[in-house]
Amino acid sequence: MSFDVLIRGAVVVGAGAPRRLDVGVADGLIAEVGPELAGAATGEIRTDGMYLLPGVIDGHVHMNEPGRADWEGFDTGTRALASGGATAAIDMPLNAHPPTVTGAAFDEKRRCLERSARVDIALWGGLVPGGVEAMDELAARGVVGFKAFMCSSGIDDFAAVDDLTLYDGMCRAATLGLPVAVHAESEVITAGLAQRARAEGRTAMRDFIASRPAVAELQAIVRAIALADESGCSVHVVHVSTGRGVALVAAARARGVDVSCETCPHYLVLTDEDAEVLGNVAKCAPPLRPRAETDALWGALRDGTLPMVASDHSPAPWALKSSDDAFAAWGGISGCQTMLSLLLSEGCDRRELPLELIAAATSGYVARRFRLPNKGRVEPGADADLVLVEPAASYQLSAEDLQYRHRHSPFVGRTFSARVERTLIRGRTVFANGQIVGPPAGRLLTPTTETESS
Ligand SMILES: [Zn+2]
Repeated sequence: MSFDVLIRGAVVVGAGAPRRLDVGVADGLIAEVGPELAGAATGEIRTDGMYLLPGVIDGHVHMNEPGRADWEGFDTGTRALASGGATAAIDMPLNAHPPTVTGAAFDEKRRCLERSARVDIALWGGLVPGGVEAMDELAARGVVGFKAFMCSSGIDDFAAVDDLTLYDGMCRAATLGLPVAVHAESEVITAGLAQRARAEGRTAMRDFIASRPAVAELQAIVRAIALADESGCSVHVVHVSTGRGVALVAAARARGVDVSCETCPHYLVLTDEDAEVLGNVAKCAPPLRPRAETDALWGALRDGTLPMVASDHSPAPWALKSSDDAFAAWGGISGCQTMLSLLLSEGCDRRELPLELIAAATSGYVARRFRLPNKGRVEPGADADLVLVEPAASYQLSAEDLQYRHRHSPFVGRTFSARVERTLIRGRTVFANGQIVGPPAGRLLTPTTETESS
C-alpha cells in the first residue's frame, strides 16, 4: 500500500480503548489504521506516543463575517481553530451582518468563508420573528439547523423569538428534517432583574451574574422541551450552564423527545468567583456559576448525559468589554483555540476522564448529531481530519499565543498540560510547530439528508 501521509506510533483515540497505532492517509481519507503498517509514504510523521484524536468539530462559534470582521473574521478565527486542533466548526447566524436569516445572507457568508477559512465550516441559519418563511431557502442551501434566542441576543439585528415564532419555526424545522438550537434563558426573568439592578445602580459583575439566575435557564429549557415534544422537532440546547439544566434535557431524551445539549469549556473550568476576579473578559450569558455547578457538569460529561462540548467562541474588540458597567460590556468569551487543550488538561489529567470521551464530545457526537458525513472518526474511509496532541506538556498560555483578532481570553496565564502539535485536514497539515501552514482551503460543509445518513 502506498500512502500520502503515514503517521507512526500515535496513541489513537478512536473506536475502542486508545492504543499505539499507525494511521495511513491516501487521497485525503484515512486508508488504514493498524499496528506498524507496511507500505511506502510520501510523508511520514513520527509521533513518539502523542495522542491522535479526530479533529475537533467546534459546534458553536461566532466568526462575525461578513459585517463585523473587525471583531474576528474567518481568517483569524479559523487560524485560532486550526491552532487549537479543530478541523471544522459550525458558525452561528448572528454577530455577522447581515445575520444568516435569508438565502442571500447565506450566500454572502459562504463567499467569505470560501475565501479565507482554514478549517471546514458548516452554517447555522437563524430563526427570528418574521423569519419562518425563509427557513426553506436556508435549508435548501445546506444549513445544519436553525438557531433561536429565547432572550435578547445582545445585538440589534438578531431579535429574540416569542413562543409562537419558536413553535412555528420548530414545526417548519421538523418538516425540513433539521434541528432548532436554542439559547435558553427567560427574557422576562433576565430583563426584569437587570432593570431592577441597574435602576438601583448595582452594575458590578456580581450584580450581572445575579440578574441571570439558574432558574432563568431551567424555565426556558422546560419551555423549549415542551415545544419540541409538541412539534416533533429535534432541539439542541446550546451552552447549558447548570447540572439541573443538563438533567432536564436528559430526562426528556429518556422519554423519547429528540433533544440534546452542549456546555462550554468556561462553564466547566471557571466559576462565578473567577468572573469577579477576571472581570469582563469572563462575561458571558448564561453567566459563570458556582463550583457545585461546574462539578455537576463534569459529572454529567462523565456519565454521558452531557454529550457535547463547544466553545461558543464569541469574540469582540477589547473596547467593547472594557466598561466599568458589567451590564454594558459585551458578553462573550474567546475560547475556540483553547478548548481541546483545556479539556485534556482539566478533564483527563486532573479528573481522569477517558480520552475517548473528550474525542466524542468535541468531534464524534457533533458529526453524528448534525449529520456531517465522513467526519469525527479515526477509521478507514473517514476524512483524514486529525489532531496530534503532546500529552506531557507544561506551559502557561500567554496572550501572544492567541491567534484571535483580539488577543484576550480568560485562560491567559493558566497552566496547560496538553499541547496541540499538529492539525491535518483531509491529510494536509494546516498547523504544526506553532505555525499555520499553507493557504486557506476550508470548505463549506452541509448535512446529509436523513435518508442518506445511517
Ligand atoms: Zn453563541
